[in-house]
Amino acid sequence: MPRPIQASIHTEALAHNLARARAAAPEARVWAIVKANAYGHGIERAYEGLRGADGFALLDLNEAQRVRDLGWRGPILLLEGVFELRDLELCSRLDLWHAVHCDEQIDMLASHKTNVPHRVFLKMNSGMNRLGFTPERYRSAWTRLNALPQVDEISLMTHFSDADGARGVTEQVAVFTAVTQDLPGERSLSNSAATLRQSETLSDWVRPGIAIYGSAPDYPEHSAADWGLQPTMTLSAKIIGIQQLAPGDSVGYGSSFVAKQPMRIGVVACGYADGYPRICPTDTPVLVGGVRSRTVGRVSMDMITVDLSAVPEASFGTEVTLWGRAANGAVLGIDEVARCAGTVGYELMCALAQRVPVVVSA
Ligand SMILES: *Cc1c(COP(=O)(O)O)cnc(C)c1O
Repeated sequence: MPRPIQASIHTEALAHNLARARAAAPEARVWAIVKANAYGHGIERAYEGLRGADGFALLDLNEAQRVRDLGWRGPILLLEGVFELRDLELCSRLDLWHAVHCDEQIDMLASHKTNVPHRVFLKMNSGMNRLGFTPERYRSAWTRLNALPQVDEISLMTHFSDADGARGVTEQVAVFTAVTQDLPGERSLSNSAATLRQSETLSDWVRPGIAIYGSAPDYPEHSAADWGLQPTMTLSAKIIGIQQLAPGDSVGYGSSFVAKQPMRIGVVACGYADGYPRICPTDTPVLVGGVRSRTVGRVSMDMITVDLSAVPEASFGTEVTLWGRAANGAVLGIDEVARCAGTVGYELMCALAQRVPVVVSA
């Protein structure tokens, strides 16, 4: 029997969260962002739950090919555009829309041979200073693109740095609007945080990622439950050993946890080699048989240890939920665990290790 650890991808929760994003921007079309292998869920596994989207957005040509292989005939957008001239051939062949964020990409388009002009999303750097043309250079880039026979419709896009926080999107929206006011074309601005928090932001296409994977973009200000989002990935493993500790006994490497009173602990078949962050300290929440408890001691490669004081009925084989939904319906938000690790839900989902078997469930 394989090690008793498993991740489950929840199709209905993906569809539910997508519907939540849609409800938050009822006028807009929705790109389901499936970069990074659908945030670690697996594009093929997430597809069924997300096929109600208006399009799929991602970064990697291989991933675009996989979405086409699934039978998707609708829009696919390359969020970073192409990296070399050859990529444009695949864009033509797979009918991909692509971002254009720099002069080099316009040069490539200008020398690309195609009978079918491409739909492009011209990206503005409205303040984040990652990808995109500065506001000063944006219109000349638009004019240059517009003159190319290789280019069909030009849509306008930008990306927010602070949609999840106090700074918000006001300044970036103002910059974007001032420059694009009289340009034709569809607009795409909002990521998950902007879609949920700044729903007045004008977007013909919203770009939710993390929200459709059931994690709150602005945790802990809001939880996933506050936004009506459901977990789409559950990581669970079984208890494979039990120890009875006396006061003064320690647990695991470095003896970082020492029992103050007699206690029973469970050893769980999940460690950092499965994607559970090693940095999670004692007291990181877990669900043991659906009952809330905590980790004790250091996370090791293949195991963690959990406190069974609150769950006397727990025994060899009891299921422990590291994040997501337990069999009894109890939920442990991935954001809570991520916070204990000093990171965000995104990183935990993306870091689910290859060795963990994944099943798709309702
Ligand atoms: C990843 C990404 C998104 C989605 O962001 P979330 O915070 O996951 O909603 C949207 N737009 C672009 C350009 C991205 O790269």
